[in-house]
Amino acid sequence: MDSHRRNVLLLSLELILDRLMRVLVLGGTTEASTLVRRLAADRRFALTLSLAGRTRAPLPQPVTRRVGGFGGAEGLIKWLDEAGIDAIVDATHPFAARISANAVEAARHSRLPLLTVIRPAWEQGDGDAWHRVNSSQAAVDAIGPSCKRVFLTIGRQETAAFRSAPHHTYVVRAIDRPEPCSLPPSAEIVLQRGPFDRAAELALMRNHRIDCLVAKNSGGGATYAKIEAARELRMPVVMIDRPRKPAMLTVETVEAAQSWLLEQAAGHPNALSDRGV
Ligand code: NAP
Repeated sequence: MDSHRRNVLLLSLELILDRLMRVLVLGGTTEASTLVRRLAADRRFALTLSLAGRTRAPLPQPVTRRVGGFGGAEGLIKWLDEAGIDAIVDATHPFAARISANAVEAARHSRLPLLTVIRPAWEQGDGDAWHRVNSSQAAVDAIGPSCKRVFLTIGRQETAAFRSAPHHTYVVRAIDRPEPCSLPPSAEIVLQRGPFDRAAELALMRNHRIDCLVAKNSGGGATYAKIEAARELRMPVVMIDRPRKPAMLTVETVEAAQSWLLEQAAGHPNALSDRGV
């Protein structure tokens, strides 16, 4: 290619990139993955999906992906500036409060629009026997003495708290194998990735002779089947309530986040039309 044609090509590329809306999606949830999948082919957006790196082999997604912390709010501010980000969607897990606090601080500092997607929490219904607590440590204390076999479904990051109650046997479910030093002495590991259905959860609880469930109030449909199964088995549930998640503007669904992004794109300087022209 001669230098004139190359320069024309580079200029066109720069013009296109200038008209794209660059969006950082803070992910690690079904909502984040669904949002980026839906918008991946939309030529108005250049999306980057950011993962904390908690899952060793995350499912592939059709957008640019980065993995690992930014280095606090300061690191995030620097990253946003270098990547020329125009908007942030915080679709992190309801229990991931630190990254959300950093996102609020960085959005304020960099004067960027920030939307937080937070799915509604589960509500206790008829037939549910919940004991609500506000931390993993409080959950340890709330497991009754009559519970012999505990189904621990809080991920692998916080199982260490249960080492202080070694008199129970735990069935620990996680996507990746927890480090042995983070487990209570009597622990059986079940490696599974959601979504889960009611029949399978009932079978698992029966097969493992579970008599108490410990869960985080993550909300959403993907992991709700264990709550239904516990209800059917009349099993006590120690439910860990969510921390306060810092946010500016919040929505509950992927559809609402998608609409918000489309509005942002329409207001973007040099915006492309929905046909990408
Ligand atoms: P966190 O306490 O809010 O975040 C801790 C640090 O991890 C952040 O300060 C940030 O590091 C980094 N981080 C978190 N999310 C990130 C993302 N999407 N992209 C880049 N960096 C990110 O969150 P957490 O430690 O991941 O988890 C807290 C709770 O959420 C736990 O109870 C966990 O079980 C639950 N949870 C998290 C995920 C997940 O994908 N993160 C999924 C399911 C459940 P820097 O400060 O260095 O930027």
